[in-house]
Amino acid sequence: MNIQFDGGQQLENNENEGNTVPKFTKLFARAMDQFRLRVFFLFLERLYLIISMSIILVLLSLQNCGWDDLHYWVLFSNLQAIFSLVLYGQLFHFSNIQQIQQHLAFHYVQIVFVPINEVTDHPIAPEIFDPTANLSTMELDKKAEVMQLQIRQEIVNQSKFCKYNNIFSNATNQAIFIWTIYYIIAIPGQNDQECNKWPIIQIYIYGSLLFLQYSQYYLLAALALVMLPFILVYLLIRCFTDRQKKQQALKALNELQKNKILYKPNIIEGEQECSICMQPYQTDDEILQMSCSKLHHFHNTCISAWLQIQSTCPNCRQQLLPDNQQPLLQQPQQQEEF
Ligand SMILES: [Zn+2]
Ligand SMILES: [Zn+2]
Repeated sequence: MNIQFDGGQQLENNENEGNTVPKFTKLFARAMDQFRLRVFFLFLERLYLIISMSIILVLLSLQNCGWDDLHYWVLFSNLQAIFSLVLYGQLFHFSNIQQIQQHLAFHYVQIVFVPINEVTDHPIAPEIFDPTANLSTMELDKKAEVMQLQIRQEIVNQSKFCKYNNIFSNATNQAIFIWTIYYIIAIPGQNDQECNKWPIIQIYIYGSLLFLQYSQYYLLAALALVMLPFILVYLLIRCFTDRQKKQQALKALNELQKNKILYKPNIIEGEQECSICMQPYQTDDEILQMSCSKLHHFHNTCISAWLQIQSTCPNCRQQLLPDNQQPLLQQPQQQEEF
């Protein structure tokens, strides 16, 4: 069934039958606005960088400065900025296409159907029909921030060129950021040369702009780096205790094997099959009964293989302990029974 979209676009929808019009939720509209604003800002930023760096390149060649590393930095970051400019231009263009907006809104289930008599020219649904209208401003902003990133990913995939340029721009941005950091550290020695004055100013500007753009990722990476020793220590402890548990379990298995049962019909309680291999027991199969419960029993071969990778009972996930270390939980229960 075709539905007349607010902007005059035809959209397929099977769920909807009455006379209604699809409208965006407040959340989606907010995310879309944020995305467009961000991309537009980045576009302007790259435009500024390209113009300023081109001027620097012309000045450098007029001053007969010759080429040193710093000037290569200007040249490469300028080329990089051109690619990014194309990328942000394309993203902005795609985000303004109504069909793409509608596709995204459907994709993220951010469409509400409004009865035709309630419809206004506004692309956003009236508040009474919009479940996201009740969100507080803070919640709305938080959700919009996440959705904005998803929208970006989705829009990037609108064209192959855009997709590859996105990967290329992000990667080269990081490379230039590292190069920029290197210069910021190395600069004090090169400060006195007249020819380097403008490139150096540009390095500070570019460095800060890149940092702002990727700050959340850089901070996250820094945090991960700080946390790394703790994570390593944690993993080491985990590894050690896991080994200990496994050894305990194998010891427990050895003890259980002393009391193995040769299967006869109804010699054991509960299911008459092994829940590891799901096979019914055959007469004279070697069966082991776990210490956790009389109902937890398996083939000797199955549970032996299981305990090579796990140290818990396959049925109740309780840690298998040697007889003298049975879990304390178990004992009061047994006392109550008697
Ligand atoms: Zn089995
Ligand atoms: Zn068990």
